[in-house]
Amino acid sequence: MSEALKDYITNHIATHGPMDVGQFMSVALCHPEHGYYMKQDPFGKEGDFTTAPEISQMFGEVIGAWIADLWLQMGKPAPFGLVECGPGRGTLMADIMRATSGVEGFHAACIIHLIEISPTLKAIQNTTLKEYEPNWHQSLGAVPTSYPLIILGNEFFDALPFRQLVKTPDGWSERVVTGEMTFGLRPAGPELTAQIPEHIRGAQEGSIFELSPTRSAAMENIASLLQDAGGAGLFIDYGYETAATGDSFQALKAHGSVSVLEYIGDADLTSHVNFDALTQAAKSSGLAVQPITTQGTFLRAIGIEARAQYLMKQANDNQRADIESALKRLCDPAEMGELFKVFSVSYGQNIKPAGFDYV
Ligand code: SAH
Repeated sequence: MSEALKDYITNHIATHGPMDVGQFMSVALCHPEHGYYMKQDPFGKEGDFTTAPEISQMFGEVIGAWIADLWLQMGKPAPFGLVECGPGRGTLMADIMRATSGVEGFHAACIIHLIEISPTLKAIQNTTLKEYEPNWHQSLGAVPTSYPLIILGNEFFDALPFRQLVKTPDGWSERVVTGEMTFGLRPAGPELTAQIPEHIRGAQEGSIFELSPTRSAAMENIASLLQDAGGAGLFIDYGYETAATGDSFQALKAHGSVSVLEYIGDADLTSHVNFDALTQAAKSSGLAVQPITTQGTFLRAIGIEARAQYLMKQANDNQRADIESALKRLCDPAEMGELFKVFSVSYGQNIKPAGFDYV
């Protein structure tokens, strides 16, 4: 653990009182000097976790085809903005750009905007994506709306802070982090308890309900960009479709689960995304929301199997085995196929994103 970060947190708690889970997460991940995302490249075999674009180029390639289709549906706007929230190493965007290089007019029209807070990852993105001259922003609010936008995020929402409420004999309390680096409770204000859905309110004692004003606010910012500019968004993340109770706060270090309060600043912190809450935020901001689907169903619907077949034709035995195992990892229900959900929103122009069931 980062001792400097722990000192910062204990001093902060000594002065201001216990931190809610969201404040703790925010400092542990984003403290300007010692925060997890500020210091290191968290991805890959040497890192702490692996994401879909890092597993296989096929992920970004079929999403590239999805984007090209959307751009054609939108009437080939030129210019248009391709915005990625939390682009990690820039791998997804690089695969998208390679896959769209044959789409006439697409590259010439495309202006890339990356929303990234990590200087380490920005430097890596700059290497991966240099030839496309991307623009970087600290937050969504800085993205221009003078042309239509296609906004992406893979494992972006789970990295944003969330809070936890616990049902006690006296009603709902908020889970907090104390100066001893243990969990405690404090009364939950009405601004939080009002957000507990009806079917959760009567949950049994000890139940945990997670909510994230920060994630909802990010969706509202996305909505406001799309309303001003027109366009659509695609977000992929692990989580659930219907609000439910359960503790999904997790810390990942070297590809294993570790205690969330232990490796402060040296482990990634996340929780499952409540897509019901994101849907509500998007709808109340006036966006059309496609019925949520799973990663496996979505990737198959947009042609990942055909892509795998094509790549296998040109591959040697080892490469073929790799392609097959990546396909399984991305799509199999027992792997990422079902836990990961796909969420698409749009505004205006009669846009119908591919890969969703329309009723
Ligand atoms: N999309 C990438 C990376 C996912 S990890 C992939 O699939 O591989 C989360 C990403 O979001 C990282 O790039 C991280 O630095 C970034 N991030 C985390 N919190 C953020 C915030 N508040 N604003 C913008 N980016 C953030």
